[in-house]
Amino acid sequence: MSSFETRAIHAGQEPDPYTGSVIVPIYATSTYKQDGVGGLRGGYEYSRSANPTRTALEEALAALEGGARGLAFASGLAAEDAVFRTTCRPGDHVILPGDAYGGTFRLVARVLAAWGVEYTPVPLGDLDAVRAAIRPTTKIVWCETPTNPLLGIADIAGLAGVAHDAGALLVVDNTFASPYLQQPIALGADVVVQSTTKYLGGHSDVVGGALIAADAGLGDELAFHQNAMGAVAGPFDAWLVLRGIKTLAVRMDRHCDNAERVVEFLSSHPAVATVLYPGLDSHPGHDIAARQMRRFGGMVSFTLRGGVETALKVCGLVSVFILGESLGGVESLIEHPGRMTHASVAGSPLEVPDDLVRLSVGIENIDDLIADLASALA
Ligand SMILES: *Cc1c(COP(=O)(O)O)cnc(C)c1O
Repeated sequence: MSSFETRAIHAGQEPDPYTGSVIVPIYATSTYKQDGVGGLRGGYEYSRSANPTRTALEEALAALEGGARGLAFASGLAAEDAVFRTTCRPGDHVILPGDAYGGTFRLVARVLAAWGVEYTPVPLGDLDAVRAAIRPTTKIVWCETPTNPLLGIADIAGLAGVAHDAGALLVVDNTFASPYLQQPIALGADVVVQSTTKYLGGHSDVVGGALIAADAGLGDELAFHQNAMGAVAGPFDAWLVLRGIKTLAVRMDRHCDNAERVVEFLSSHPAVATVLYPGLDSHPGHDIAARQMRRFGGMVSFTLRGGVETALKVCGLVSVFILGESLGGVESLIEHPGRMTHASVAGSPLEVPDDLVRLSVGIENIDDLIADLASALA
């Protein structure tokens, strides 16, 4: 099963051995009958430790990201917490992207810091700055690319070199690209993080997260924490993500087609000041993105000449785009990061510009999307 599209539909998803059901069933059970004490069928004893629907998702995730082990969690942040707590102890240090996802920053700055983990936000586009921020206690270089919401690009292979020279792990949040557009493990990442809430689920109907470890030993340690801390994906949530994954490739291609057209439209619109999209030649990370991504994704951010008032007005005037948080679903979403998704980083080094609008470009008809934006910007 060498090609991505085929793995997305079949990896970990053998027809059910009992009935032949083509689709992996939702194993809604907490426990499993043992054939005599310790006589487990297929290794299942309790659903926090393992559940067949979740196992199918975990195998599919490992196959799609090219890792040794996949683990499915209750949310992206639960997955992030597990990787930090597996690899860091009080007194250890992590490097965060200067424009990390706000929830990642909050987890580190408000929860892990209180436990004694130290952190430095660094612009990851500057490898020398990352190297300079490394300490003897640095355990993780945390990379997000493209970043949320500024669509910054980091050089995954370059960062892997810096992290490994320092004896640290490179963890890549691959949520914005999805494994269809970007394969961090092949570029040297040790762990990939996914908020499966976004493109993997793809239909805005589930909250979930995942870790994919390049190496089986680290995968086992992460699996220990998954079971010990218990923030697992339930069987129905795992099933929804599995169903989403089957169409990931076709959805991502349409997200990219539509985003490219939206970028073209916004770039020539007089009310728009700047368009942030790694597919633009003018984007500072364009060459790296072109090297490490298949295409440039479905997320587009832009600033407005009219400033914050116009940004808020546009968010209220659209009718096909839905004003809401999150991203990666089939429907187009619009939001104001400064007051919505990134309100938790206001006043921190990660504060985002208040004239910024973020789009998650969906897979509706592109003419409808452009007409909607045109009328909101008029
Ligand atoms: C949404 C998101 C997360 C967090 O995932 P949840 O499923 O909301 O917990 C992490 N990273 C990025 C880039 C995200 O967009």
